[in-house]
Amino acid sequence: MERFRALLRVPTVSRSEAAETDWAAFAAFREELGRQFPRMHAALDREVVLEHTLLWRWRGADAVTPPVVLMAHQDVVDPGRLEDWAHPAFAAEILEHEGESVVWGRGTADDKGSLAAICCAVESLLEAGHRPGRDIWLLFGHDEETHGTGAQAAAAVLAERGVAPAFVLDEGGAIVRGFLPGQTRPIAAVGVAEKGVGNYLLRVTERGGHASAPPPLSAIGRLARAITRIDRAPFRSRLPGPMREMFRSAGQAASGARGWLYRNVRLTAPILLAALKSASPESRAMTGTSRVATVIRGGHAQNAIPERAEAIVNARIAPGETLDTVLAHLRRSVRDPLVAVELESGWNPSPIAPTSGEGWSLLASTLARLRPDAVIAPYQQNGATDSRSLTPLTPNVYRFTPFELSEAERGALHAVDERIRVESWLGGVAFYRELIAQL
Ligand SMILES: [Zn+2]
Repeated sequence: MERFRALLRVPTVSRSEAAETDWAAFAAFREELGRQFPRMHAALDREVVLEHTLLWRWRGADAVTPPVVLMAHQDVVDPGRLEDWAHPAFAAEILEHEGESVVWGRGTADDKGSLAAICCAVESLLEAGHRPGRDIWLLFGHDEETHGTGAQAAAAVLAERGVAPAFVLDEGGAIVRGFLPGQTRPIAAVGVAEKGVGNYLLRVTERGGHASAPPPLSAIGRLARAITRIDRAPFRSRLPGPMREMFRSAGQAASGARGWLYRNVRLTAPILLAALKSASPESRAMTGTSRVATVIRGGHAQNAIPERAEAIVNARIAPGETLDTVLAHLRRSVRDPLVAVELESGWNPSPIAPTSGEGWSLLASTLARLRPDAVIAPYQQNGATDSRSLTPLTPNVYRFTPFELSEAERGALHAVDERIRVESWLGGVAFYRELIAQL
């Protein structure tokens, strides 16, 4: 716990602009890791990729068995206004909260919780004289919350050396209660796929002029119409494969009519799809590609017609679609040759990892031993993780944060008052220790 707290106190805040990032904090974080995990530093080979991403190799007894990559990220989301926090964001205070012991601060759940838990597991296995049967790589990115370039560069290093992992485990779903109505047991939600992201630029250019003699439709008016048209043309919604599997697994942990509904997803898919679409924006997003205008720019004077107006539409692309099919859909929705729609940046959705094979079985058996009350279930993640960079190396990429997180803890991710229950974090250390001990 003290090692975890020491890492939480280093404010490794990710910023979109490299120049605004406090890189000294990342150097301090590396030093703190060295102080807290001396055995790990002595026994594993460490390299620093792209100045701040850490790639560790724990050499196994045999070099033939495909290795495993465990991932987490060093950076954290901007804490926002520090005075909005009920307890300081970077003090890692342990306190009693709603009857339970919690550790408070940015990164407790996303994602220093996992990073520290992995290191604690490795340190304690080293202390016990353990040597893994195969190579284990640890990959700790430094800009997961912004660009993900660190993990991308580390993946390129692994690819260059011909490393073909048996499986990859990164942050993702957690052990949750009350995720589905009627759920009687906690669900360990393992992300087997994640959406892609596309930023599309909409641009209208026209001749400017005096605001006293406007054209029928100004650049801003035309752009506004285009955005409205995009809002009115949703993408196809359906129950994706991983969500069907999730319902089937979750059905074992739900009673009565709801349990029956979940288990018989082949028959009940239309009902479940409608329920997901109406339950919350988050569950709605699981049913297809989403899109929303996030930036708008245009105009420079109160009495002048602007020559140019621009907007960014941010799309979260469901498996089955691509950056290009989404671009085509947006252009069709806008149906206006005077609005240019172009892809500015993004990446395609991940492939879907199998719910069979060594990686999945190891996750399932480890959970079954440590959390026999929980049911493992695959799902499709709305959010992106660094693990997307590893999908070219293996189809077996899993996204799971092995902590039981309450609804309040999940709600504090990327928000103020991020925290994790001490017991929950210790359960995560036990999970990684048990998993690594089998490799
Ligand atoms: Zn994260």
